[in-house]
Amino acid sequence: MRGLLLLLTALVATVFGQETFEGHQVLRVTAKDEVQINLLQDLAEMDLLQLDFWKEPAHPSLPVDIRVPFHSLQAVKVYLEAYEIQYSIMIKDLQAVLDEEQREMQSARSVEARNTDGYDYANYHSLSEIYSFMDMLVYENPNLVSKIQIGSSYEKRPLYVLKFSTGGSNRPAIWIDTGIHSREWVTQASGTWFAKKIVTAYGTDPALTAILNKMDIFLEIVTNPDGYVYTHTRNRMWRKTRKPNPGSSCVGVDPNRNWDAGFGGAGASNNPCSETYRGPRAHSESEVSSIVDFVSSHRNFKAFVSIHSYSQMLLYPYGYTRTPARDQAELHNLAQKAITELASLYGTRYRFGSIINTIYQASGGTIDWTYNQGIKYSYTFELRDTGRYGFILPANQIIPTAQETWLALMAIMEHTKDNMY
Ligand SMILES: [Zn+2]
Repeated sequence: MRGLLLLLTALVATVFGQETFEGHQVLRVTAKDEVQINLLQDLAEMDLLQLDFWKEPAHPSLPVDIRVPFHSLQAVKVYLEAYEIQYSIMIKDLQAVLDEEQREMQSARSVEARNTDGYDYANYHSLSEIYSFMDMLVYENPNLVSKIQIGSSYEKRPLYVLKFSTGGSNRPAIWIDTGIHSREWVTQASGTWFAKKIVTAYGTDPALTAILNKMDIFLEIVTNPDGYVYTHTRNRMWRKTRKPNPGSSCVGVDPNRNWDAGFGGAGASNNPCSETYRGPRAHSESEVSSIVDFVSSHRNFKAFVSIHSYSQMLLYPYGYTRTPARDQAELHNLAQKAITELASLYGTRYRFGSIINTIYQASGGTIDWTYNQGIKYSYTFELRDTGRYGFILPANQIIPTAQETWLALMAIMEHTKDNMY
């Protein structure tokens, strides 16, 4: 009966074009040693199972989270049990969690904001809602905020950056991006909250005012708009860009493996069907090359912060090499200060360190490239949570997440202002 029901919902889903996740489970797997890590990596290679690793196998101290489609559940559980690999069920039925998310969004949608005070920061929004938020913010704050188009996505959507500036020309600058991985919805939502926070804090918060009197802030809220639209219309779990891969039926490139920093090395995939596919060449994705061109021509960025979710980490270079960053000691101390500030609000605990030491080797990552360009304060955040909801973080956690992250961002921005050369 259940099988029939699943078949039916799958059929309905095909007709309406929205992928459903009926019966999908998210398993939290705890490998006890390197042997078990390798067994999990073997599992990831089995394309037929169509597993989606929310957290990839790295080393035994870090849990591995896997979304398992209904049709693969039994096989995966048999495999794990046969090798005595421990696991628990984090999400019992993913579709039920997604339905709840949809219900909340639908009920919020009844009121459309006419200004940024009326915008519903405690809910998730479509691309067009976020784009009109940006226009409202610019309209309301013409002397502080402007909107720059730095390029276009593969599907020809504009790539917009908000510029917060109190004057001067080509001032030293801070970059913040959210949503380069489209399914990490709490990041775009936090980016929207940061934008509003900057305009309200300027002139009232002395620390932020001092920063904006010396520096400009650039904020790209929807860094992967094609992917973001796709997460709303077709597949909530979409991470990559939407560019087709010639010779493969699989679409998209991981825009956080596509940068010219150790590109093609270990910690990225050359398989177009992989969630960490690096792409045919460095900067092949316009969502990446637009930032590369912008940052290269601006030449005065002092800090670069790229925001992801989930797992509660603050990371600095490198990811592609074990060679420590030249500024490792300073980056480490600043990260510690930032996560201490972050924890002061709600007690949210973060891990911190270099990418390669804290998670795993990853090549072609954003902040390795920016650091190698001379942008010393290059950081990546992984926001809430640690896996209870993963990418489907309930909307009532958006504002607390943004608030606590803001404290860490302020620590990084202030340190940058006081220490830039
Ligand atoms: Zn990410």
